[in-house]
Amino acid sequence: MAKEARKDEPLVGTIVEAIKEPANEKHDYYCKCDGCSAHMYAYALGQTNARFVSYNKFEHVSISCIPVEMEFDPTAHSEELFDMDTYIMNVCGEVKHIDRGARIPTSTEHRHVHIKTKPLTAINTTNDLYLQFCHAGLEASYNGYSVNEFFACRNNYEEKSHGFTGFQLVEASFYKYHPYTQYMDFNFTPYGKITFEPVHIRLDFGDKDKAFGFYKQHFADKKTWKPKKGVYTRLIVIAGVWEKLNSSDIISICKINKLTQIKFYD
Ligand SMILES: [Zn+2]
Repeated sequence: MAKEARKDEPLVGTIVEAIKEPANEKHDYYCKCDGCSAHMYAYALGQTNARFVSYNKFEHVSISCIPVEMEFDPTAHSEELFDMDTYIMNVCGEVKHIDRGARIPTSTEHRHVHIKTKPLTAINTTNDLYLQFCHAGLEASYNGYSVNEFFACRNNYEEKSHGFTGFQLVEASFYKYHPYTQYMDFNFTPYGKITFEPVHIRLDFGDKDKAFGFYKQHFADKKTWKPKKGVYTRLIVIAGVWEKLNSSDIISICKINKLTQIKFYD
């Protein structure tokens, strides 16, 4: 939810504040970020809780729009305390040793104008790491960890579409549930944006009942047990330790040990 959006025209429309917009007029609103024409719904215009929300987060042209829409505060967590091994253990339930490179200060550090109490906790959820990576951008590093190396998203899709290994945070959308198995497949693609054939990734729930429970809760129409309307376009972010697969259409697979690995976005 964003407090601001472009009014009436994508890319060039005037940027307006939701709280100052009239509720009784009909207008179209678009993402305020440069070069992005994602549609935005308007809610409660003119009221204190007025906001804009994108129709679909995959409509945003770049990952950099996502933290803008979500009004993410990049200084809410301590970058210095972030340790990838600890994150993987807590969020993914796996033990891994990840090397970090030389620490490059992130742009947020230069932006500090006010003296602010330092945050005392490190990022420890899939949502916060996703928003932090989107905010930092692929060229940056986060406490020495290269964002591009550990993030597979719409901006580096072509580079990553041959498969990935090791820890990776992945932008995905639902593709297929395999009944009576422990597997579910996802698109690794910004849904609807890619003109070439999408590639797929596989989640291994380790147990067919767990996979079915997850499918039932998030994707299934309760009457037909088929995927319900709209599930294919929803952004889902998956934190996992991946292995490449020698399969024609599945590029990589990861184990789902904990549901903290998966975050849904409306
Ligand atoms: Zn956008």
